[in-house]
Amino acid sequence: MRAPIIRSKSELQNLTRGWRQAGEVIGVVPTMGALHDGHLSLVAAAKEGSDRVIVTIFVNPKQFNDPKDLENYPRTENEDARKLERFEIDAIYVPGPDQIYPEGFDTTVSVSGVADELEGEKRPGHFDGVATVVTKLFTQTMAEKAFFGEKDYQQLQVVTQLSRDLDLGVEVVGCPTIREEDGLAMSSRNLLLSDRARVRAPRLNEAMERAAERIVAGEPVETVLAEARAEILAAEFNDVEYLELRSIGTLKPVTDGKLPARLLAAAPLAGVRLIDNIAVG
Ligand code: AMP
Repeated sequence: MRAPIIRSKSELQNLTRGWRQAGEVIGVVPTMGALHDGHLSLVAAAKEGSDRVIVTIFVNPKQFNDPKDLENYPRTENEDARKLERFEIDAIYVPGPDQIYPEGFDTTVSVSGVADELEGEKRPGHFDGVATVVTKLFTQTMAEKAFFGEKDYQQLQVVTQLSRDLDLGVEVVGCPTIREEDGLAMSSRNLLLSDRARVRAPRLNEAMERAAERIVAGEPVETVLAEARAEILAAEFNDVEYLELRSIGTLKPVTDGKLPARLLAAAPLAGVRLIDNIAVG
């Protein structure tokens, strides 16, 4: 069954109001489209955990700090709708920009603390864009549950904080990262990798896994991370923007070597910025 594609906020709310009045739990899966098995795992979790499921597809201009990245972002709406068929969801919400940011829109939702470093530092304004659009999508869909991937671990923490702080009444559910067979975390941006870069891309996750094992074995964190950075650069990544061990949830620096923790990385490869994170311990 093909779910209806809804493009206007009013049409969406005509549906969701009825569902809420009937006491049904609405689950939302916010995405920017170019759906892959990572996204689809969130849809499966939403089906399991909610009475009604809405997948949103909106390439949110406010969360792109690089106009080229926004321009190049893959858009595959028909293919996306086809991939969603087997889940028998209730609606695909594909708002035009005017449904999210109508003329005169002048509000920014900004989370501090957990949003400040790592991605927040490397991509100024990114999490403000995420927090603003997520707030809009939560209120427009009237969802009570929202499903996000651990692939974007910091984003998951930011959205959890946001929902709690603003009493949005949405339970944020985190779902594990889905990977290709060679360990590369699935991402819409992987479509932009050249053949040559695609072969090298899994080296990021390999270096992280090795580093995590050594940290768990008690080797000094700084030495292990320095060697992992060198490995990633040797695999022809252009840079290692960060590779850091952080505490779970709060993402504060781990100074006392306390585990379990999270290892997070961002590294561009042939112009495509890859991010990944894994549990340590
Ligand atoms: P995006 O379309 O990149 O904005 O991602 C939409 C949602 O899918 C976010 O909650 C992501 O964390 C999640 N997601 C993206 N890639 C993966 C993956 N490989 N495994 C699990 N979730 C993912």
